[in-house]
Amino acid sequence: MRRKKPLLRSLTILACVLLGSVSTVQAGTIRVEQPMSSGHTKWTSAFDIEVTDDEIVVAIGISLLVPRAVNRTILEDKITGWKAAIDATWNNRFYTLVHQAWVPIKFDIRFSHFKPHHRVIVHPGSWTPNQHNWYINTPAAVVAHEIGHMLGAYDEYNGGAFSAQEPIIDITSIMGGKPATGVAYPRHLKLLTKMLAEHFDDKQLKLIPY
Ligand SMILES: [Zn+2]
Repeated sequence: MRRKKPLLRSLTILACVLLGSVSTVQAGTIRVEQPMSSGHTKWTSAFDIEVTDDEIVVAIGISLLVPRAVNRTILEDKITGWKAAIDATWNNRFYTLVHQAWVPIKFDIRFSHFKPHHRVIVHPGSWTPNQHNWYINTPAAVVAHEIGHMLGAYDEYNGGAFSAQEPIIDITSIMGGKPATGVAYPRHLKLLTKMLAEHFDDKQLKLIPY
């Protein structure tokens, strides 16, 4: 029996590679890592899905690398604002039905150096951010937009990193051209939805906005 395990493991890895994503289910946690691309723009969507009996928590660990030129007190202030915008955009907005049970989706974005999913340099000043480079003056809503990319969302403004299959321009969207007033939609969480559908073995599984 023991000799079968490596084969099973190889087959599982092969299946994951064929599906284009890697996940392992351990103690209710699904680790998701998905390469994303749009034209020449490439990034990685990565997060954990922590499944318990009464909620689904999407956890993202982000290690902020901060050059000396950035004032630490100002940074702490900014992080407070960034967290508030991330919460307002993503948290308490979606639920799903799992075997007829209503399960809320929560987002827990941790700025921590412990096993991070993403590493981001926080530069002084302001410039156009991307997944690995933010600026101390990056508006909070733009950080909430960058979290969208970490979750697997594409841009939805002209000139952005569009989905090749389904390009969308939507000014009302957090992924659109006006993140300050933009909101999150279920389509931004396609990757999460796909992983949950696999986890619960329910092809009809959907995320539903409140
Ligand atoms: Zn973007």
